[in-house]
Amino acid sequence: MLKNELDVTLHKADTLKEKPDQNQLGFGRYFTDQMFTMRWNKEQGWHDAKIEPYGNFSLDPAAMVLHYSQEIFEGLKAYRGADDAASVLLFRPMDNLNRLNDSATRMCMPCIPANKVLQAMKGLIYLERAWIPESQGAALYIRPAMIATEAALGVRPANEYLFFIICSPVGAYYAEGFSPTKIYVEDEYVRAVQGGVGHVKTGGNYAASIKAHTTSQRKGYTQVLWLDAIERKYIEEVGTSNIFFVINGKLITPPLSGSILPGITRDTVLQLAQDWNIPASERRITIDEVLAAVEDGSLTEAFGSGTAAVISPIGELGYQGKTIIINNGETGPLAQRFFDGIEQLQRGAAPDPHDWLVRIK
Ligand SMILES: *Cc1c(COP(=O)(O)O)cnc(C)c1O
Repeated sequence: MLKNELDVTLHKADTLKEKPDQNQLGFGRYFTDQMFTMRWNKEQGWHDAKIEPYGNFSLDPAAMVLHYSQEIFEGLKAYRGADDAASVLLFRPMDNLNRLNDSATRMCMPCIPANKVLQAMKGLIYLERAWIPESQGAALYIRPAMIATEAALGVRPANEYLFFIICSPVGAYYAEGFSPTKIYVEDEYVRAVQGGVGHVKTGGNYAASIKAHTTSQRKGYTQVLWLDAIERKYIEEVGTSNIFFVINGKLITPPLSGSILPGITRDTVLQLAQDWNIPASERRITIDEVLAAVEDGSLTEAFGSGTAAVISPIGELGYQGKTIIINNGETGPLAQRFFDGIEQLQRGAAPDPHDWLVRIK
């Protein structure tokens, strides 16, 4: 086999798992029958690509990922077609795989052959198509990831890696309709710094965020609003989503400054805003500007964007002991419009002028 050429061996599971109740899926609790794996080392490059039964890995306790967290991941969904439930669609999957390679570069890990991995991913999803839930808003969540497997305790790039893709059927994020979230404006802990790794999907970012998240949950909030690490003033993200505000009818989101994850949903919202003639700007915005704009009535909406929930309206902010209510705690018209528009696109129920859909079946 040539270096970097994917030659996927297929080994199906002998016995299939019982499928979970479609109405009780939650998020990331069930996994399908098979997974995709491939390995990398210096001599062979990527090799040993296979679709095999879902199961445990065997790792040396000295595997470098377990000590220094050389790990990256992605998240995307496969959807059933709106008009034909037998069809299966992916939304902008190459953007996810290209972003995985950006993460790999930052973390000194090998890049994957994105086009060939997309073919393998499509093969895996096709094989697992019976797992894709049918109810509105539900989907098959796809998690590609890469870990450093070399057994050695020096801090340096590993010489061996494992890349894998697992799939999990997930329910609709808002099964009973939107419920705007309560967000704690975090002014002690920070998520990411300029020059750090906040702009890539690497596990350490999420481990580091748990403290703020659980602390805010104990105070009754859903998630935290992250501020910049230097002045605790500029808004960066909300939980693990990008953030948008609507001020005087204009959509505002912080620019990709190096500490913000370049969300594909964020990019989709910005492109749709352009398509729909909604003025939008990527610019720095401070928490004080947001509070003043709520006060004078010019800020009418705030929402998060990400693959898991698509659009997540924010109904309330808690900041330095004050409670700030946004749009009477209700979902605003633009949040609703982006949510509906993106959901329709993802299911092939709206025109796709940007060629975002990849049809598997
Ligand atoms: C994944 C992620 C997002 C959203 O990215 P999408 O491509 O829209 O799913 C935003 N912020 C963080 C920190 C993330 O990890």
